[in-house]
Amino acid sequence: MVRAIRNAITKQKTVRALLHAIERHRPFHLAASLLGDRQVRRIYWNYLVRRRQMREALLARGALPRNLYIEGTNACNADCVFCGYGRMQRPKLVMSMDLFRSVIDQYVALGGKAIGFTPIVGDPMIDRLLFDRLDYLEATPAIKYVGFYTNSIGLTPEKIDRLFTYRRLQLSMNISFGGFDRDTYKAVMGVDRFEPVRENVLYLLSQLESREHPNVRVKLDYRCPDLEAGRTDPFIARIEECIKHGVVRQDTLHGVFDSFGGMIAEEDLASAGLRRNIGMPKMGPCEILFTKPIVLADGRVNACAERDLEATLIIGDLKQESLERILTGPRRTALMESFYRNRLATVCAGCTVYQSVYNPRAKVWSNQLNWEPAASVEDPAA
Ligand code: SF4
Repeated sequence: MVRAIRNAITKQKTVRALLHAIERHRPFHLAASLLGDRQVRRIYWNYLVRRRQMREALLARGALPRNLYIEGTNACNADCVFCGYGRMQRPKLVMSMDLFRSVIDQYVALGGKAIGFTPIVGDPMIDRLLFDRLDYLEATPAIKYVGFYTNSIGLTPEKIDRLFTYRRLQLSMNISFGGFDRDTYKAVMGVDRFEPVRENVLYLLSQLESREHPNVRVKLDYRCPDLEAGRTDPFIARIEECIKHGVVRQDTLHGVFDSFGGMIAEEDLASAGLRRNIGMPKMGPCEILFTKPIVLADGRVNACAERDLEATLIIGDLKQESLERILTGPRRTALMESFYRNRLATVCAGCTVYQSVYNPRAKVWSNQLNWEPAASVEDPAA
């Protein structure tokens, strides 16, 4: 063991990686996290000592990712302060049903069970083919889990009623919720749509309470500054009552956001009372490369469904090759290797969503969704 540590530490590549991490992160924060954060210490330990073993375990998973993301559309009806959408240069598209069906059929042949409708940017509720897609998935027995995030502006009562008609699919819906009043909401979400969102959420809560809905799970993801004031507001009280009775779940980022691939500055977030995180030290490949590839509306496949706004991490094109070939092909492997060689793509270099595969808590190590039948499913959208 001692020899293994010594060898790892003396390897030039490792030293370079450490220097690179220090260079890219504020030294004070890095030092503090190294000393004080058990999770970061585990990442460094795994990177130094268990690197090869863990890498092989990951590659043994084969072509099938944990979940496959589909960009039904990359258009959105909000302009959130924490999102790069307003700066996107890519054309706004809707994926054709022919392409969608072909993707699903190929994915099922690979053993896929879980679909995520959350695109890099865009809202699935304004995808005019969303329910055609869901109908197709409902009729495809191999697909079990479908998840998505929505800002709920377009989550009208009619759409809510339709979502409850699916009997077989396990639907996981996460509502990205920008504030409990009109001003906060507008500052965070960039649009003056608090009232329709409030109405939609209230209708959703009433339906969740009154219907049998074992296959629809809803989580409210707060995207606003932590609010202690206004807890007596009837809308907030209604939400809290539903959380208390297990009708919906909640989550919060406590007002702290990432850089959206280096695009969102601290000042952008500060205007809405939000803060920016510093991210984790980059040690080894990002887990997203194993867990969240996305098929774009035009048929290209991007390695990252998280923060690559302009889709620069393209690993193939379904108009020219099969999904299996793309997922096992050299471009995906080269991207993973780029993290070892410290030749990161620009978007990865500036990204603070990055999560090391050497973090034992990373989703890449949880046997869920495609990788093992899961008794209870945790957010296929996430
Ligand atoms: S580092 Fe960021 S942009 Fe790069 S693959 Fe990971 S999540 Fe995506």
